Amino acid sequence: MNKRDYQPGEAYAAASDLADPIREYRNRFNFPNFSDGRELIYFTGNSLGLQPKTAREYIDQELDDWARFAVEGHIRARHPWLPYHEFVTEPMARVIGARPIETIVMNSLTVNLHLMLVSFYRPEGRRKKIAIEKGAFPSDQYAVKSQLRFHGVEPEEGLIELSPRDCESTLRTEDIVETIGKNGDEVALVLLGGVNYYTGQAFDLPAITEAGHKAGAIVGFDLAHAAGNLQLHLHDWDVDFAVWCSYKYLNAGPGGIAGAFVHERHANSFDLPRFVGWWGHNKRTRFLMGPEFDPLPGAEGWQLSNPPIFQLAALRASLEIFDDAGMSNLRAKSEALTGYLVYLLNQIDDDRISIITPRDPAHRGCQLSIRVKDSDKLLFDAITDRGVIADWREPDVIRVAPTPLYNSYTEVFRFSTILEECLR
Ligand SMILES: *Cc1c(COP(=O)(O)O)cnc(C)c1O
Repeated sequence: MNKRDYQPGEAYAAASDLADPIREYRNRFNFPNFSDGRELIYFTGNSLGLQPKTAREYIDQELDDWARFAVEGHIRARHPWLPYHEFVTEPMARVIGARPIETIVMNSLTVNLHLMLVSFYRPEGRRKKIAIEKGAFPSDQYAVKSQLRFHGVEPEEGLIELSPRDCESTLRTEDIVETIGKNGDEVALVLLGGVNYYTGQAFDLPAITEAGHKAGAIVGFDLAHAAGNLQLHLHDWDVDFAVWCSYKYLNAGPGGIAGAFVHERHANSFDLPRFVGWWGHNKRTRFLMGPEFDPLPGAEGWQLSNPPIFQLAALRASLEIFDDAGMSNLRAKSEALTGYLVYLLNQIDDDRISIITPRDPAHRGCQLSIRVKDSDKLLFDAITDRGVIADWREPDVIRVAPTPLYNSYTEVFRFSTILEECLR
């Protein structure tokens, strides 16, 4: 079944950890513990990533510079605040496979989604529909429906909801492509997640982008569960826009500052409708405080406000680690690590549990969603008591996300042992 020749037993896990070229990265994070100090198994990097040990130092530096320089910190801080977002542009661009001019870190995810929809959802005549996943993350559904209504389109007529076939849990690429094609002259926008938060399914972003463009639609992605998880090539895939948050796989802390991608081909599309603010204005003349908005080219032109420096400092700490580890190394380990979990779960002979996430690494990131028959949350509570931090999604799914940056094969092994013992 597997090229990797997984083996049962903890010795295999220990050997895999020893052979893991990026195992040391684990030491760059703070882990939560039981109150008696024993280590927990943290498998919720898909919800809130762990704290990089350097985050405190980087935030402290800004607190110090604020104390020392006050307003002059905009220029005199060791990392001056005026251009501070620029310190994270290139590392963030590397994480998502974009050019710096296509990448901006600003606001929070849903805010960025609205800003992108203002520019890129432009219903015209028959072409006014938005294709999304049925059961998309609630914030995305709310945002999209409110944008439809904002344009006078009722969600019932404006939404195309992509759903799995009967008796299947995940979408098939061919069905997505077919639905987009079938509705070709009515689709204004295709907006999907990169990885579905519930099922853990990773979508074929280049194929979907191509299908959307062939139909004459704009294609955008919500990469909340994909950024820092999958290897992305947004520029090469020709995606129009994308948004994502930084507190999940990107470990930038609760409410962390989010990202947006706008393809280079829209960099100078100043005629696009947009909601603007002074931070999107030409840097050279921003402080002349003139009445007319002169947008920066590229994604930076969508900025509204001067950004939260402490959040950026935490993100800078995290992205440094991503740069050192490299997305291709992370993805290689992730495929092996989650593959190992699939292997171990398959060894558990109990038909109360099943994996709804696709097995093929090309169609998943690090998360596995485990369906528990008869909605038995007791199982989830039992593994929690045993020190596993996972999460429960109604009605019947336990999500676990072994992340390649800080989780180990041994933790995966221990988790599967705990799960098996709790099933008994
Ligand atoms: C986590 C997540 C969000 C959260 O939105 P915020 O604006 O950061 O609160 C939105 N959409 C998706 C798909 C998510 O996974």
